[in-house]
This record gives sequence, structure tokens and C-alpha cells, in this order.
Amino acid sequence: CEPKHIKELSKEERQKFFDSFDLVLCDCDGVVWHPFRDFIPGSARAIDQLQRLHRKKLTFVTNNSVSSLEEHLEKFAKQGQLNITKNQIVHPAQTICDHLKKIQFKGLIYCLATPPFRQLLIEAGFQLTQDSMSTGAKAIESVRDLHEAIYGGSAVQAVIIDVDFNLSAAKIMRAQVQLQNPECLFLAGAADARIPFGRGEIIGPGAFIDLVAKASGRQPLVLGKPGEALGQLMLQRHKATPAHRVLFVGDSLASDIAFGHANGYQTLLVMTAGKSEMEKRLKDMAKDHSEMPDYVVDCLGDLLIEQS
Ligand code: PLP
Ligand code: CA
Repeated sequence: CEPKHIKELSKEERQKFFDSFDLVLCDCDGVVWHPFRDFIPGSARAIDQLQRLHRKKLTFVTNNSVSSLEEHLEKFAKQGQLNITKNQIVHPAQTICDHLKKIQFKGLIYCLATPPFRQLLIEAGFQLTQDSMSTGAKAIESVRDLHEAIYGGSAVQAVIIDVDFNLSAAKIMRAQVQLQNPECLFLAGAADARIPFGRGEIIGPGAFIDLVAKASGRQPLVLGKPGEALGQLMLQRHKATPAHRVLFVGDSLASDIAFGHANGYQTLLVMTAGKSEMEKRLKDMAKDHSEMPDYVVDCLGDLLIEQS
């Protein structure tokens, strides 16, 4: 079934659409703002209308924990009229913390992630190995150095992988070696194969997670989109809202739309990646409908209702 263009709906169909959901789960990069840059024109007003005019509950679900929750909040606060609070933002560092608390995890963690990600775990009371920290890492010049980097640190009870700006072959090898212990947890935050950066995309943590998974014969529990474990967490968080009354909004077919479908949500694709390219991909999607959105818009501003 072809997705419906919101702009092409009649007034009555549009009303029916807005009446069909109570909760909006919304991606950030590429929907609300350009990655690491400004708000996309119209998105702040559309969010404001969803909250205040349509009275929808709103939670932002991003795979970006390269920026801290506070940085995300500051970005929303700069828009003036938007009133977004901390518990309206979900990102992998936080869902990993929630998961570890839920299973009452106690132990040492080898964490390949950015400083804000690691900080959140430390603030939540978890203990990270010294060599999880990127500062002061010794350059590897010999076999002896490599041996020390892989086997020198303490044994750990969990390996976590997200975006790590200082990732190295030795770190990947140490993770793989630790995961040979079946008791050691393997958790992943964002598992995107590519992430937006600069003028295009760069290799995302998914590529490195795959390397470790293949080499260790282990599969991670993915607590970012489109992970099943994140779906379970969202279900608990919003248990008052039935899945079919949730609208998931995103610009990625693989991370957002597939995640929405897997959880029984309605889905809205924002065609930030280019309308013609996206429309071509949707047309080519003959067999696999897991990434076919219910609705499409060019940008979030297409949801706006002009008020007189
Ligand atoms: N995944 C990772 C690891 C990222 O760092 C980013 C952006 O920085 C994204 C995904 C994209 O974020 P979003 O899920 O908001 O599109
Ligand atoms: Ca996105």
C-alpha cells in the first residue's frame, strides 16, 4: 500500500489523521534539525502545534548520544516557544542506563563511546574501566604494546559500543576478547551503519558492532533504534497508549520506519534525504514492506495548520 502524502489529504482526511494518534515519537536529526546544525524551517512551529493545538504527547527518540541530553534541551530552548523537558528525550546512553538499572547490573564496563555517553553511565553509578577513557591512550608501536592494550586491563562484565571518536583496532580486539566470556553482556547504543556528519554521512557504530559481533560470535542487545530492546522500553514507558495510537516520525527507512512498524506504530516519513530519491526507494520496495511508511511529508512544516 502506497504511503499517503499529508499535503494531498482533504480537510476531512487531515482531521482523521490528526485524530488517529495521541502520542508522537519523533526522530531529531534530519527531522527537527539538520545534524549538528540549525532547526529545519517550520519544524519548531509544527512541534509547538502538535503539543498545544492538537494536544498530542511528544517524545523525541534519537540515536544521537554524541550530544548530551542537556545539549539537546538547549537546542529546543533556543526556539523560544518550545517547552520540551528532559523526560521527553530518549537516546541510547539513557536507555542503556535504564536497562542496566533494570537488570540490577553490577560490574565493570568496557565502554566504547563519547564523553557525554560515558558521563551519563558514571553519574548513574556504573563503573567503567580506565581504558574506556580516551585520554592518555598510549600509541601502539610494538607487539608488546598491542598485547598490553588487549590483555592488560581488567576483565569486564559488559561491553558497550556506540560512537567512539577514538576507536582503534586494539579497542575492537579487546572488546572481542572480553566477549569470549559468555557471562559478559554485549550492549549497543546506536547501531546505524552510517551517521550524518558534515556534508554527508560517515561510517556509523553499526559497522564496528558488526565486526565485533562476527569475530566474537555474539549478537548485541541494541538499545537504540531500531532495536527490539528499545521497543520494549518504549512500551513500558508509554503503556497507557495503545501502539496503533502512536505516530513514529523519522527520516530513515531502516532506523525509524522499520522501528515503527516492528512496534505496531503508525509511521510518517520525512523526506529530508531528497524527495525524488526517497520516492524512488519507496517505489522499488516491492516485497519488503517493513520499511514502507503510512504517510510522507517533505518536511515537518507540512503538518502545520495555518491559523487565522
Ligand atoms: N546515530 C548516531 C550514532 C548519531 O550520532 C546520530 C547523529 O549524530 C544519528 C544516529 C542520527 O540521529 P537521529 O536518530 O536523531 O536521526
Ligand atoms: Ca534521523
